[in-house]
Amino acid sequence: MTIYLDNNATTMIASEVREAMMPFLRQEYFNPSSMYESAKPVRNAVETARQQIAQHLGAQPSELLFTSCATESINAAIFGAVRANPRRKHIITTAVEHPAVLEVCKEIQREGFDVSFIGVDRQGNINLGEFVRELRNDTLLVAVMHANNETGVIFPIDRLARIVKETNPEILFFCDATQTVTKLPIKMNGNFRHVDMLAFSGHKFHAPKGVGGLIIRRGTPCRTFMIGGHQESGRRGGTENVPYIVAMAKAIELAAETHNEDTRRIERLRNKLEMSIIQSIPNVEINGAGAERMPNTLNVAVHYIEGEGILYQLADTHLAGTPGICASSGSACTSGSLEPSHVLTAMDVPFTAKHGSVRFSLSRYTTKEEIDAVIERFPQIVAQLRRLSPYWNQETNQPRGTTLT
Ligand code: PLP
Repeated sequence: MTIYLDNNATTMIASEVREAMMPFLRQEYFNPSSMYESAKPVRNAVETARQQIAQHLGAQPSELLFTSCATESINAAIFGAVRANPRRKHIITTAVEHPAVLEVCKEIQREGFDVSFIGVDRQGNINLGEFVRELRNDTLLVAVMHANNETGVIFPIDRLARIVKETNPEILFFCDATQTVTKLPIKMNGNFRHVDMLAFSGHKFHAPKGVGGLIIRRGTPCRTFMIGGHQESGRRGGTENVPYIVAMAKAIELAAETHNEDTRRIERLRNKLEMSIIQSIPNVEINGAGAERMPNTLNVAVHYIEGEGILYQLADTHLAGTPGICASSGSACTSGSLEPSHVLTAMDVPFTAKHGSVRFSLSRYTTKEEIDAVIERFPQIVAQLRRLSPYWNQETNQPRGTTLT
């Protein structure tokens, strides 16, 4: 048995979504590009899915390309924009983007472009002054995420994109909305009207892994990234993943039906967990608490212990009947050393806390009983690990006051 609180990493496939895609894994297996009659319903299913998803996002169906994941959409958008506008040599992004954006920008930097990585404040809010100052005559593209996957902090995309377009309408604005599609309002003809390109991924909202989307507003100069096929009007070659495209449309339809109710319930559960952790554990802080945040995300910084230690203990099921709790930490284990999260580093989270961060991310399937189980287990685990920590004074239940470097 598992309590799954890692929904920013991926989500469970909804049963309705699984059912919707089954015919396309069985009898409706035809290639949507084939000319015979049997392929027609398959072709129609792809185009219906395109219409539904585009409509949900306030875009035209012809502006939506199906891809394999958000990482592909991001690569296609950024490399496509750079290749279409090779004379402009400057890109703006933020220091807290997902690696899919950061690594692409660093690659483009190695190819001779200038990249400005805009910083954030202690709460994770974008440094607006720095953002405005970095806009230049030769800026080609601005790439900013909608909400941060680690902290849930939401960036004011409508405001940033408007500033960019008022400065110079030729600068392209790309938004990585992987954590927000189906969770926050996004309308390419409304609040996102100044955004040119938008990336997302089905597995973040109860569709399968292996399908994503990229909206490229009509008229946006963006060179084709995946060549070799006429599919997607020649803008993304390769036979369409029909079952998963149908699944992604169904997942969007489901989310739209229950959005308000789900959001309120998820936020109540997240707040309950957050309050309980703050009240029951000394020396913890909530990363991003002072910023506007995703209602499903809770990033807790526990001073003086390692996040990985907490995760192992949470996942432990050694007591019969104890469910493992799946969460995630900000750190990534690279080249034998534990590197702290680049997001928490950019937020200037102190050394004693940025190694001890744990992210809980909820979904519409998270129950009150599951949150209650975490409320019971989490403080016990922290107390147990602190007993082993040389930096923690057992008698005072406070840090020893050691200065760490
Ligand atoms: N961007 C953000 C903000 C993400 O959270 C993720 C995945 O965690 C990605 C991009 C990459 O998504 P995918 O796994 O679909 O490539």
